[in-house]
Amino acid sequence: MMREIIERASEDEDLSIALERAIESYMDSRVRVLSRYPYITELAKEVRRIKELSIERIEELIREAKDSMEENRMNVHIAEDAEKAREIVGDLVGTGKIVVKTKSITSDEINLRKFLQGRGNEVWETDLGELIVQWLDSKPMHFITPSINIRREKVAELIRRNIGENVDKDDIPGMTYAVRRFLRKKFIDAHVGISGANVIAANTGSIFIITNEGNGRLCTSLPEKHIVLAGVEKIVPSLHDAFKVSDVIMKYAGYSAASYLSVISGPSKTGDIEKKVVFGAHGPKEVDVVLLDNGRLRASRDERLREALYCLRCGSCQYLCPVFRLVGGYWGGDAYVGGIGILWNMIIGNYEEAKAQSLFCLGCHECELVCPMGIKTADIIREIKAEYMREMGLD
Ligand code: SF4
Repeated sequence: MMREIIERASEDEDLSIALERAIESYMDSRVRVLSRYPYITELAKEVRRIKELSIERIEELIREAKDSMEENRMNVHIAEDAEKAREIVGDLVGTGKIVVKTKSITSDEINLRKFLQGRGNEVWETDLGELIVQWLDSKPMHFITPSINIRREKVAELIRRNIGENVDKDDIPGMTYAVRRFLRKKFIDAHVGISGANVIAANTGSIFIITNEGNGRLCTSLPEKHIVLAGVEKIVPSLHDAFKVSDVIMKYAGYSAASYLSVISGPSKTGDIEKKVVFGAHGPKEVDVVLLDNGRLRASRDERLREALYCLRCGSCQYLCPVFRLVGGYWGGDAYVGGIGILWNMIIGNYEEAKAQSLFCLGCHECELVCPMGIKTADIIREIKAEYMREMGLD
């Protein structure tokens, strides 16, 4: 099955043109950013140490983050698996609501959008790439650029079909503004905003969200309720550590600095009338944080898979992997694609899928060379592959 998908993808001319355009643009940004900010390679090493320490203390940091958030009037829920996380978010949202979402791989991991739609809610992805994926009823093809496989001609057609605006296939700004007009009303009308988190500071209970489009700020500010869904591996000890992690994510994603770095530490409030604190001044009245385990704690105790928990989801390894350059995110699971996606599929329990995907790794180590965390993805995949071959009697 996986073999057929990959063979078909490798012969898809549209896919190869779209990937070529996107990868070339990323490579230019990466070279420019890494040469302009040479300190970043040393900072990346420091962040690796921060992540190692954080994963070593993961259970203690979950408790500390929970206490800090609760002190800040956020409601914290711990979900041991995907089903529990869906149930918690489903109960918080209810039915018949308008929900706006930021891009969140963790929400894709638990298939949240479709679950909430199935409960009678109107749910909108507000990251442009994710909205394209939603319209196509497809899956995200890259951590940072989910619609990396879609050419501009196809996007123009989707906008015509879904919004009814007649945009020109070569007018990319025109397409962006059409989506802006369409989503504006959804942001205003939304009852609930759902976001992920790029990193979480345990000592202050602060959620860091990095975006370029500005949708993150609208999703987390305009609705009365903000729900954060984040994997427990995102927690680091301090606010200072979280800023360092954010800087490394942005630079390795190809940006000097993303347009927006939001740090959210509680619901909006005012004490301006007689110092009486009222929640829900202009932003949300309520912030709920769902911390998801779903195999992460088990992986933190596994010498091999622990490495993958250091992943910052910057997407560098995906852009530079020769297999990904040929077939894009068709190599991977529903949420986690590319080589690192194989390790993440193991973490979240998709063992058979991960093992079958491991056969397509070339073992070139390109991923490790470009990874800010130096994750030994190819070595770990080689071991998964060897085990699989033994199981199949093929060694
Ligand atoms: S494995 Fe490394 S390069 Fe790939 S997304 Fe994670 S941090 Fe970035």
